[in-house]
Amino acid sequence: MQNNPTIGIIGGGQLGKMFIENASKLAVSITILDKDAHCPAHHIAKQHIIGSITDADAIQKLADSSDVLTWEIEHINVDKLIDLQAQGKHIIPNPNILKIIQDKGKQKQFYQAHQIPTSPFFIAQNKQEILEKLKETNFKKVAIKSCTGGYDGKGVFIADVVSIQENPNSIPFDDAVMVEEFVECKKELAVLIARDKQGNHAVYPAIEMEFSESNLVSFLISPADINLETEKQAQQIAIQCADAFNSAGLFAVEFFLTQEDRLLVNEIAPRPHNSAHHTIEGFYASQYEQLLRILLDKPLASTQPIMPSAMVNIVGDKTGKYQLKHLNELLQIEGVYVYVYGKEESKPNRKLGHVTIINPNREEVIRLAEKVRTLVEIEIL
Ligand code: ADP
Repeated sequence: MQNNPTIGIIGGGQLGKMFIENASKLAVSITILDKDAHCPAHHIAKQHIIGSITDADAIQKLADSSDVLTWEIEHINVDKLIDLQAQGKHIIPNPNILKIIQDKGKQKQFYQAHQIPTSPFFIAQNKQEILEKLKETNFKKVAIKSCTGGYDGKGVFIADVVSIQENPNSIPFDDAVMVEEFVECKKELAVLIARDKQGNHAVYPAIEMEFSESNLVSFLISPADINLETEKQAQQIAIQCADAFNSAGLFAVEFFLTQEDRLLVNEIAPRPHNSAHHTIEGFYASQYEQLLRILLDKPLASTQPIMPSAMVNIVGDKTGKYQLKHLNELLQIEGVYVYVYGKEESKPNRKLGHVTIINPNREEVIRLAEKVRTLVEIEIL
């Protein structure tokens, strides 16, 4: 690859924006593809091709103007990327991975085929088949997931088996689904792993998701409060997953930690991830730095923390133009970093920004994260 290559990113959301912010350190040019002329990465990308991430011609245009391609979102035109790769285009991660990830059923089958621990499951094409197959299991409670199209919890339906048997119409999906046993878990964890072209790994410590009383993720904290053995196992499983994909790239591996301290893989995102935003301030090198190095074929960076850190998402609840209500208060807290992605409108459940908190003392990080959470409020204008 030439000295100053152009990187093409499919998608121009906040993950692309943060990737570009970091890549500017090495004066690397980035072109993005996004249909939204005002997407978060628009203002800082060297070039913006306005077009759909599912449009083969638009992806071709991006490929023509880039030395290497990657993505920051999963629901893109994978067949086009597979074609381009076959023609010799440099694409990281291997787009064949997306074929597996885009379908929750195929994802589970992949874990099973590679002895990656995951909860028991089956695939069904319709409600009738769900009912029939449930009879062959001893599941009491299940998570039913639409095989394609779900993200951020949309496309996930959790229910007791008895209630499904009594009222099958409560299942909100008509297409193919993956039905898995509900895991009564102690904690939800995530491990971010970077794998380079030579197969070297850089693995971040596990993070833990803290839940509020209403079961919404309240904040993420690093390091997770788990024993050393669990930490070691989570890292080993993350390596097992990245090696099973046999590709360079960034992989965010989400886990359930069961009451018996077993780790089960929930899902994997082959891209920068929300659960590793805190690596920008909390670690010597961020997830974006790792991806940049992988794309440029440079040595992986350190995954050592500088200090404990936490992250609170800023999520919209209403539709309309908006502002962050307590921005001044947030900006006055030491060790608090506010990110506003620059999306024009708020919408229910839309990620509009996040706040990272760092402090040498983990207890203090938790205290500050709770305070930040009360201050994160979106005001519709
Ligand atoms: P998405 O891809 O939309 O984020 P997930 O499959 O991660 O969906 O599910 C969203 C959330 O639902 C998880 O983070 C977890 O809290 C809960 N969940 C999903 N599957 C299960 C399961 N099998 N057992 C327990 N909780 C689950």
